Amino acid sequence: MLRAAEPDPTRRAVVETIPVPPLSRRVEVVRRELLPAAAAALDSAAVVLGVGKGIGGPEALPAIRRAAEALGAAIGATREVTDAGWLPKQYQVGLTGRAIAPRLYVALGVSGAMEHLVGLRRAGVIVAVNKNPKAPIFRAADLGVVADWAAMLPHLEAVLRA
Ligand SMILES: Cc1cc2nc3c(=O)[nH]c(=O)nc-3n(C[C@H](O)[C@H](O)[C@H](O)COP(=O)(O)OP(=O)(O)OC[C@H]3O[C@@H](n4cnc5c(N)ncnc54)[C@H](O)[C@@H]3O)c2cc1C
Repeated sequence: MLRAAEPDPTRRAVVETIPVPPLSRRVEVVRRELLPAAAAALDSAAVVLGVGKGIGGPEALPAIRRAAEALGAAIGATREVTDAGWLPKQYQVGLTGRAIAPRLYVALGVSGAMEHLVGLRRAGVIVAVNKNPKAPIFRAADLGVVADWAAMLPHLEAVLRA
């Protein structure tokens, strides 16, 4: 999420050997979970549909998944969405989630909190659909549509397919 520093060839690394006490006494593996393939796709996706609490609930997800599949897009989410359990934690974009770099990020019902936006610093074009014209996402977006996300989705899909 941070800008890469300029290389400084004059700097030399000091290599130190530090004895570390065995971790096994202090660390307990509770469970292992594989990253769902769909969430892993977030790292390389050229197009990401980002969903926020404004989608209303998990019942909205099938329509968004269908649009994502048709467009070859991945799905990302805000913390509100993952905290509510509508999508697994691995889909969360932002400060305590993942940093992504799609060419196009379409935010549906996302308010645009700073903690979400830091995960989008490397995104190309940001398109936001939010029914509140004062939502902060419009300050970060290249293109904003004040509308209900569900009413906009078919139009977005048609335009993006074209
Ligand atoms: C330490 C810390 C770390 C955090 N880390 C993260 C993080 O990594 N990622 C993250 O996302 N958040 C993170 N957050 C939470 C963040 O502050 C916000 O609370 C969160 O991003 C808001 O999620 P949201 O936009 O889905 O929900 P809301 O803020 O509730 O926004 C919902 C939006 O949907 C709009 N809306 C409602 N209905 C519709 C509709 N029908 N059509 C269109 N728009 C509609 C509303 O106008 C509103 O703007 C963190 C917070 C803290 C304190």
